Amino acid sequence: MTQLEKARSGEITPEIEKVAIKENIDSETLRELVSTGRVVIPANINHKNLDPIGIGKTLKTKINANIGTSGDFHDIKDEIKKLEMCVKYKADTVMDLSTGGDITNIRRELIGKSKLVFGNVPVYQMVIDILKKGKTFVEMLPEEMLEFIRMQAEDGVDYMTIHSGLTRRAVDKVKSHGRSAGIVSRGGSLTVGWMMHNKKENPFYEYFDDILEIAREFDVTLSLGDGLRPGAISDGTDQGQIEELLTLGELVKRSRKAGVQVMVEGPGHIQLKDIEMNIQLQKSICDEAPFYVLGPIVTDIAPGYDHITSAIGASIAASAGADFLCYVTPAEHLGLPDEDDVKQGIIASRIAAHVGDISKGVKGAKERDLKMGIARKNLDWEGQKKICLDPEKFNEVRTDRVSATEACSMCGSLCVYKVLENF
Ligand code: SF4
Repeated sequence: MTQLEKARSGEITPEIEKVAIKENIDSETLRELVSTGRVVIPANINHKNLDPIGIGKTLKTKINANIGTSGDFHDIKDEIKKLEMCVKYKADTVMDLSTGGDITNIRRELIGKSKLVFGNVPVYQMVIDILKKGKTFVEMLPEEMLEFIRMQAEDGVDYMTIHSGLTRRAVDKVKSHGRSAGIVSRGGSLTVGWMMHNKKENPFYEYFDDILEIAREFDVTLSLGDGLRPGAISDGTDQGQIEELLTLGELVKRSRKAGVQVMVEGPGHIQLKDIEMNIQLQKSICDEAPFYVLGPIVTDIAPGYDHITSAIGASIAASAGADFLCYVTPAEHLGLPDEDDVKQGIIASRIAAHVGDISKGVKGAKERDLKMGIARKNLDWEGQKKICLDPEKFNEVRTDRVSATEACSMCGSLCVYKVLENF
């Protein structure tokens, strides 16, 4: 049985117990949230060293970091280092988006070393491995696609992005309505390519019941991909995106009915003013399934700084109710992230998640800021270091720019806390 089915039957699983302790909430309350699908606990039965987390209503906003090889860079050692960065800087989950090297081996090594919740996008490996067999992705049979999903589920992947909501009807809407940046999801574009070549419906939609069977067997949480997410703010909230969202709402119902945990992915590039509306739409159409946003990026003109453009969007999204944020690194739109990009992306995303938690009233969030304010006033540098998000950075600046005074080198003897010491 899956976490969802066990919760429905009234069982408080060891995973629910652990998550309840981490979130500082009552385990019966959490069981109830899991039983209704408002919270998911991605926990593949084959991921043996997993430290489980919960994603969804009333819980802390979680963040994901993407790692993985490309055709140009595919050294497993680099990916292991990135995984270690994810643990060190406290990502909640890691997604392996490998498209280069021995993808099966890379996945198995990473899962074996990962106590973090592990996600992936199965279609990436399908494309690469079918090429190695001398065929192209459009020639792939649905049965072969299901075999890949099964193999990855067996390996212990906790959650999978599957682009099942991308129907022919939604593609037609994109075509008739027009878009400035077209289809930018890699999984989405591959799926559309397959559909156009074969003149058939999306196989991930047609064979959704088979996918559900596999997901149920291993308790893989489905993360319903938004293959038509906008890739430019001018395309945000268009007909194609909303058509796909309507289908995702139906698929949420079917997943829950089959006992499969499910969450929904969302945009993408959208204007800041439209973020809250997008969150409300998803929550309403998808019956409060946990919402996993990819950014959102709120302006298209800052490559090199997209960890910032996305942290702005993600702060608004999390405040409006998004449950899970996919990080964006400074390398987005430019190249494969290196270790430092991974760090920058995680920290930016954690800031956004915390901003959201303050607004959502998540237990302990505001209190942490209160403690920081007091430590600052008291010039308690050790206290501030303990509370802050990145103690390493804190130390780096403090030791690099030492003040001759008890304060910091910004204002020195004019430090407001010294001027008004007894205020
Ligand atoms: S010196 Fe200036 S910046 Fe530094 S703690 Fe005091 S008021 Fe803040």
